[in-house]
Amino acid sequence: MRRSLIVVLAIAVLLVAGFIYYALDPASSSAFPSCTFLKLTGYKCPGCGSQRAIHALLHGDVAGAFRYNALLIIAIPWIALCLYAERWRVRKPRLYERVNAPLLIWLFLAMVLLWWLLRNIFNW
Ligand SMILES: [Zn+2]
Repeated sequence: MRRSLIVVLAIAVLLVAGFIYYALDPASSSAFPSCTFLKLTGYKCPGCGSQRAIHALLHGDVAGAFRYNALLIIAIPWIALCLYAERWRVRKPRLYERVNAPLLIWLFLAMVLLWWLLRNIFNW
């Protein structure tokens, strides 16, 4: 019962957030938070452009979303797999263990750091 309530609340939050990101454009609306790291340093963080990418993605503009934050778009299938593995952790423990293998986590971290570095060098 408690787990079901959490799932329902998570879905409700995702739907509301999806509606907000669909209806309002983060590029032109002041309703969205801007990146503190960018403001303080002048450099993009790995997540910069994610809100605009989500807005573009919700409008079917995959290329635009990719331009705003390629890492987010590339990571979406991975995030979905992680959520799936977490959801079915008890029934599919091997999948959960494979998805959460230390090597994969380190590779993902390395990919984020590489993305962070390259996007500031090449202004992606
Ligand atoms: Zn940022």
